[in-house]
Amino acid sequence: MPAQLIDGIALSQKLRAEIAARAAALTAQGKQPGLAVIIVGDDPASHVYVRNKVKACEDAGFYSLKDQYPADLSEAALLERIAALNADPAIHGILVQMPLPKHIDPHKVIEAISTKKDVDGYSVLSAGELMAGLDGFRPCTPYGCMKLIESTGVNLRGKHAVVIGRSNTVGKPMALLLLQANATVTICHSATPDLGLYTRQADIVVAATGRRNTLTADMVKPGAIVIDVGINRDEAGKLCGDVDFAGIKEVASHITPVPGGVGPMTITMLLMNTVEAAERT
Ligand code: NDP
Repeated sequence: MPAQLIDGIALSQKLRAEIAARAAALTAQGKQPGLAVIIVGDDPASHVYVRNKVKACEDAGFYSLKDQYPADLSEAALLERIAALNADPAIHGILVQMPLPKHIDPHKVIEAISTKKDVDGYSVLSAGELMAGLDGFRPCTPYGCMKLIESTGVNLRGKHAVVIGRSNTVGKPMALLLLQANATVTICHSATPDLGLYTRQADIVVAATGRRNTLTADMVKPGAIVIDVGINRDEAGKLCGDVDFAGIKEVASHITPVPGGVGPMTITMLLMNTVEAAERT
């Protein structure tokens, strides 16, 4: 039987309605959630991402602040602006769109954001909180993947999850979140020999490599849940993920499509973290 699709668009809509209700309750108490998005330079893709984030904020009833600067903004000026936003009570989340121009150190910038407002969950302190099982903000993409996995109704306790990819923004936090949910977790990466040896044992596979066809049907255990984080293009220029969707949907029990799976969840979890940040104040 072909796998059930895990619909990231439908789940996003449901979660965004819940977030909007929480935002309305906060606004009624005079504490409208506020997200500041900073963009430096004129990278066209970054402008599209920022536009989507601003629109999502407005749709959810948030206060949305877009700070746009020319590419020659100095690092000191950016750090000063972040300090001001850290102190601004109308702002509960701060996001700096990457990439930044070369003369600005992205690490310095991320670390300048108050942990209380680090709704991307990218700072070293937020990563440490996740590692220690504390209540910090979880990076949005892996957090969204967890929601997609939970939506299948699976109990992760004792299940074997394999994460392919070990980036700081996706692979590593994904593995920690699965571990917190009591899965047994294996992390694979580009130096893993015989990837299939691990994935064939997995009840859940999360693929986050940015390489097409990293996972094929012969590498998947029948009935497994497959989450595809990748965003790639095929020879025809069509959007596709990291997994061979057509083949794997005949083997897996559940699978996320690309587009329409993990993608829509990332902004949704940014909204979730921001409303949470406002509730904590
Ligand atoms: P990175 O390039 O930072 O990391 C990729 C990881 O995959 C690395 O750990 C790398 O291993 C590993 N890898 C690469 N090739 C292979 C392979 N053949 N076999 C096993 N492991 C491999 O990417 P990100 O984590 O930032 O993103 C991954 C993908 O997810 C990208 O396509 C990105 O566009 C997409 N993405 C999608 C989002 C969404 O909202 N849908 C959000 C964020 C990312 P090593 O460490 O050894 O190099």
